[in-house]
Amino acid sequence: MKKKAYWEKNLFELIRRTSTDLPQDVESVIRRSLKAEKKGTRAHHTLGAILENAELARVKDAPLCQDTGALLFEFRVPAGFDTNALVAVTRTAVSRATRHGYLRQNTIDSLSGASYETNVAHGSPVFHFHQGARKTVDVRLVMKGGGCENVGAQYSLPDVDLKAGRDLEGVRLCILDAVWKAQGNGCAPGVLGVCIGGDRATAYKASKEQFLRKLSDKSRVKQLARLESRIMRDVKRMEIGPMGLGGKTTLLAVKIDSLSRVPASMFVTVSFICWAFRRRGMVLGTEGGLKRWLY
Ligand code: SF4
Repeated sequence: MKKKAYWEKNLFELIRRTSTDLPQDVESVIRRSLKAEKKGTRAHHTLGAILENAELARVKDAPLCQDTGALLFEFRVPAGFDTNALVAVTRTAVSRATRHGYLRQNTIDSLSGASYETNVAHGSPVFHFHQGARKTVDVRLVMKGGGCENVGAQYSLPDVDLKAGRDLEGVRLCILDAVWKAQGNGCAPGVLGVCIGGDRATAYKASKEQFLRKLSDKSRVKQLARLESRIMRDVKRMEIGPMGLGGKTTLLAVKIDSLSRVPASMFVTVSFICWAFRRRGMVLGTEGGLKRWLY
């Protein structure tokens, strides 16, 4: 890899920005939600505190939340690009960002519980690579908090308890069940990423890929766009609210995709991401120079 220093510098900046600067599309939905809540309520107070927190993090150049979460990197690279070198330089940038305090030492050994000083270990960070047609490298990072990861759920339809069949109404019932069971845990208000179909593993991956979408967009599949809007309306009526303290704002958005499946199984996979929706991305030239920011 030529110009390793460019790569490291830009990947470090991607991590810094992701950790400290809540994306505008997320912040503007939180602002809108604040206006929709009654003044003096816990919901209004909590959303105000979230916005204050976001502003402080930006001004003080400090992490938005003490929970660094899992570091999910998505790369789109041109044919023949050296992905091993990209992994190595990203790991170096993660170590450096941890040393600088942009990432808390948040990665531990699953057997011993011992902490890794750099957030670099077997399984951390997480890398996904795709081959793109362009001669640039597209890199996106999501920092996925542990609390919201814990309330994710996967359903296998039909579900007798929910009276949910293998149709979009069954899907809706599963999503609402996941939100109801979470009761605002995982630091609501957040965003749901949903995958209909697929196998268990690819469905979880696809559900999290929904977090790369802008909050303002709608599914290009009409049925799914309608379902996204319907879920938002249904969840508002649950009155779970920010942090589960009551109010209209339990979700900021719902993003749904579908994958093909085998006739024997139909999964509905629901991933949550919290209000600290840390997601940034950038496009780099093949030499590592920054071309533009994506969010
Ligand atoms: S779920 Fe999100 S907001 Fe809550 S502690 Fe984890 S990262 Fe922070």
